[in-house]
Amino acid sequence: MKTWKAVVLMIVLLFAFAGCGNDSVGGAETGNMAGQIEDEANKFNPRQTKCPVCGGAPIKAEFYYDTNRGRIYFDKEECLNKFKQNPEESLRAYTDKLMQKRMQEERQMRQRMREEAQKMQQGG
Ligand SMILES: [Zn+2]
Repeated sequence: MKTWKAVVLMIVLLFAFAGCGNDSVGGAETGNMAGQIEDEANKFNPRQTKCPVCGGAPIKAEFYYDTNRGRIYFDKEECLNKFKQNPEESLRAYTDKLMQKRMQEERQMRQRMREEAQKMQQGG
């Protein structure tokens, strides 16, 4: 029976990703995910941890911009102002970046699953 093994593997991988798969790839900064900010606003990206303008962290509850798809947070006022100067363009750039990251994460996850499956088939 190999099927249940694959199912278990998938669950394990999903949890592994949920545990360490926040936005801080290559950086160890903790906390301040947009989803953890309790301002009752609809979040543009609940997993946002970094400023969309400069990539700085942590993001702050008081520096935000509301779009029709939710609230985006910034690390400092300077970045918020930069974003506001050209909101549509900035938002498009940010959305593109998010999409790319999501696709990259999916690729990595699939790659990891493939590797784990291979290991299992080799009896490891
Ligand atoms: Zn910034």
